[in-house]
Amino acid sequence: MQSGTITQALTWAQHAIDRIDARLLLQYVLEADHAFLLTYPDQLLTSQQADQFSRLVTQRIHGMPITYLIGERAFYDLTFKITEAVLIPRPETELLVELALKRIPADQSCKILDLGTGSGAIAITIAKHRPQSQVIAIDLSADAVAVSRWNARNLRVNNVHIMTGNWFNELAEEKFDLIVSNPPYVAENDPHLQQGDLRFEPQLALSAGANGLACISCIINGAPIYLVNGGWLLLEHGYNQAAECRRLLENTDFSNICSYPDLAGIMRVSGGQLNALV
Ligand code: GLN
Repeated sequence: MQSGTITQALTWAQHAIDRIDARLLLQYVLEADHAFLLTYPDQLLTSQQADQFSRLVTQRIHGMPITYLIGERAFYDLTFKITEAVLIPRPETELLVELALKRIPADQSCKILDLGTGSGAIAITIAKHRPQSQVIAIDLSADAVAVSRWNARNLRVNNVHIMTGNWFNELAEEKFDLIVSNPPYVAENDPHLQQGDLRFEPQLALSAGANGLACISCIINGAPIYLVNGGWLLLEHGYNQAAECRRLLENTDFSNICSYPDLAGIMRVSGGQLNALV
């Protein structure tokens, strides 16, 4: 792209990519917000800015997710730094956070565990909203742990402790009031892995065995010894995995088992309470 004005840059980019994506990329290059673009449509881009913008538009044309290009994503009421080391937070995962917050009294000090934390979106949002609670967040990927620690520091959330580990392996003998997880749950031969954003996301965070349930069943089986009696386990899962998740929970000492729909009406989170029957 020749360097030109803001309007010219946007018009050029909109022939090739989505209009909002073009705007977000230009805002990123100019370190400006939407209001700035609207207020100064005739401002000239420097040649450096024009080159950077054109490189980003090309990457977007090749499918690179907008979140990885601009390096951040809003989730719940916070904004997280996101790199290619972590899954891009999805709006449906906000349901998991909402269900978790409902189970954590604001005036009590609860212990919460987030398994496979990635960017830390779930753990950090919960910790921010429940400052009395202590959250432990674990991820197998050291690069993901670095991103989530950066997010916790940047958002000034001190009541979350983030560490590397393989599900429960690094935990001492401790008990939690609530365990949450958005584990990998896509079947490894699912064609969606070769489509859209998923092509660029870490496979470690996405796919889990032949039917996608390998990590979910590992978490459900492991959870009871890390939960207090009456503690909750809440898991995000695939669009067709709710019944199987409930079955696994039933077979593992959980009661009050329920599945919850996301905004698209798809059962997206299932959970239960450990030995809640008294
Ligand atoms: N929700 C993601 C998707 O279907 C998958 C996330 C995950 O595996 N936890 O694209």
